Amino acid sequence: MKKFVGAHVSASGGVYNAPLNAEKIGAKAFALFTKNQRQWVAKPLDAETIDKFKKALDESGILPKHVLPHDSYLINLGHPEVEKLEKSRAAFIDELERCDLLGLDRLNFHPGSHLAKVAKKDKENPEVMQPIEDVCLDVIAESINIALDKTKNVKAVIENTAGQGSNLGWKFEHIAHIIDKVEDKSRVGVCIDTCHMFTAGYDIRTREAYDKTWAAFGDIIGFEYLSGMHINDSKPPLGSHVDRHHSLGKGEIGIDAFKFIMNDERMDDIPLILETIDETIWKEEIEMLYSFIE
Ligand SMILES: [Zn+2]
Ligand SMILES: [Zn+2]
Repeated sequence: MKKFVGAHVSASGGVYNAPLNAEKIGAKAFALFTKNQRQWVAKPLDAETIDKFKKALDESGILPKHVLPHDSYLINLGHPEVEKLEKSRAAFIDELERCDLLGLDRLNFHPGSHLAKVAKKDKENPEVMQPIEDVCLDVIAESINIALDKTKNVKAVIENTAGQGSNLGWKFEHIAHIIDKVEDKSRVGVCIDTCHMFTAGYDIRTREAYDKTWAAFGDIIGFEYLSGMHINDSKPPLGSHVDRHHSLGKGEIGIDAFKFIMNDERMDDIPLILETIDETIWKEEIEMLYSFIE
């Protein structure tokens, strides 16, 4: 088997519950939050919790590389204010360390937002205005460099976004810009969320559109960076820049795109994670995805 499908499961009660919750739905991969995603600080992982997690993961038969932890929604590695940027960077480093303690090798995060629309003065050429997007992407890359320098083993996996508000990372070029400025390229990766990709304007509904979009991904970013995917249908239409997931086949993307993915060897051996809205049907959605393999 080359496809590893799962869902973003609950870790409530302790991170060691996540592998058990994954097993219950027949998952071969899973995502989790290693701390409360809506709080800045969490108590450190103690030795007993770490042991219990590793044991539960081992018993589930799921490999660490097929686990895709997601960081806190509060973190903004491109924050324009120094104090909040520092807070985000510290929290991101803590998230990477938690993954390493759990024996996991990748951490999925949203790149960041500039929270404004204005351009900034170029430091060297004050008469030149730099687009705020470029400035923010540079700040994000710097945040990643700082975090990678202070941690080990875990890859920083950039998730593409829908481009809602001032969120960056919805264009493949944004992600390429960040990767280009990351010093240790062996520790940076990309997670493509199909809903975000679609609402960002990348069509995958037909074979032709699917091939065109992924060819652009290959040219602009490169498949060597693809370290995971979020498998979601979309409530809003193509190019709407609105982030609302839907159950597979029930949204605007439709079912064919997921058939293409399940038969695309470029998505082999990476975690393919459902974040669809009805968790009571995750088991059926996983079964359906596996049934698509020809
Ligand atoms: Zn996400
Ligand atoms: Zn996602």
